[in-house]
Amino acid sequence: MALKPKFAPSGKPLSIHHIGSSLPHSRYQRCPQCDLLFQLPAVLPHQNAWCPRCNAKVHNGRDWSLTRLAAMAVTMLLLMPFAWGEPLLKLYLLGTHIDANLLQGIWQMTRQGDVLTASMVLFCTVGAPLTLVAAIAYLWLGNILGMNLRPVLLMLERLKEWVMLDIYLVGIGVASIKVKEFAFLQPGIGLLAFAALTILSILTLIHLNVEQLWERFYPQRRASQPSSSLRVCLGCHYTGIPDARGRCPRCHIPLRLRRNMSIQKSWAALIASLIFLLPANLLPISIIYVNGVRQEDTILSGIISLADSNVAVAAVVFFASILVPFTKVLVMLTLLLSVRYKCEQGLKTRIILLRFITWIGRWSMLDLFVIALTMSLIDRDQLLAFTMGPAAFYFGAAVILTILSVEWLDSRLLWDAHESGNARFAD
Ligand SMILES: [Zn+2]
Ligand SMILES: [Zn+2]
Repeated sequence: MALKPKFAPSGKPLSIHHIGSSLPHSRYQRCPQCDLLFQLPAVLPHQNAWCPRCNAKVHNGRDWSLTRLAAMAVTMLLLMPFAWGEPLLKLYLLGTHIDANLLQGIWQMTRQGDVLTASMVLFCTVGAPLTLVAAIAYLWLGNILGMNLRPVLLMLERLKEWVMLDIYLVGIGVASIKVKEFAFLQPGIGLLAFAALTILSILTLIHLNVEQLWERFYPQRRASQPSSSLRVCLGCHYTGIPDARGRCPRCHIPLRLRRNMSIQKSWAALIASLIFLLPANLLPISIIYVNGVRQEDTILSGIISLADSNVAVAAVVFFASILVPFTKVLVMLTLLLSVRYKCEQGLKTRIILLRFITWIGRWSMLDLFVIALTMSLIDRDQLLAFTMGPAAFYFGAAVILTILSVEWLDSRLLWDAHESGNARFAD
């Protein structure tokens, strides 16, 4: 069955007569989210198109040239030493002043023996942005030298949600309000560089159109006839017939009907994250020493004491640290059970929920960023010191596992379960 897609030109509206089968460049493709086979009319580069069944975006009109992306990457690279190494906040306490920057906070975490939590923070704030810059540089250079660009293009699409500079920026705000009650604070030079880096990275991620890069570097013939043997590749979103070795002709990863072991992997990550969420919420996540007196805070008690000084910030932390992780786990449980029991009701709601938690999930890292920064700010030995508790590791691990659980779930299985009570896909 071939349906006509919703088609929204940005600019002047196209009449329905344009969406005919007589168009020379119209093509057949499958939706990567619901597997519907539909006919996509000729789209201009700046136009968007959505799947007629599940409303997933199947053509993205945003496009920046590789030269412009490379210019952004160079600017980001120049800003990085200042954003990460210069002080984000300056703290004045007991006649001395302490500078806190991003790398110092991560180093403090490492020194206290929590290498794993420190590397999670390092990856999301330093590793992923650096990889983004390196990947753009590789594409630009590799395009000239004729290198294999496939692995980098495959990685870029997945990298997007791990660049968490925006969340760290909010974390700086939360940390400064937390610390305000102990000492006088001033923004540092690094903050300006960090804000600029964040804006540039967001702009780059918005305009980085991996699909159009694929089409440019590895052009492929598009299907002109609807055929049930057409499959959509989850790596590069190309719709085609597997090559002789069963691979996607464009990106060379195995082209499967459904993602392998999707349900099992998704369940495993979800159950592990559920287990980690218990110690994450019951054990202390931060420990503060004021005049030698040790005071422990769990996630919830920290939020309650933050609410005394600033309700709005406490609400942000509550949303990121408690509401988001638990909603995510609940939604994933519902989705996986609905696939298991071939549920037919509320499919639209489930799809909206899945998209919502995919979009919102990364914000739960906020609390870890706040802890990392506060640790490097408040460090006065016996008088006033701030360290992280054992819950931090469990919390970080739970957040990463829920992100993976969503990533591993093949959303086409939800449609399969909806469509037929007994169809089984084993590929
Ligand atoms: Zn769809
Ligand atoms: Zn592919």
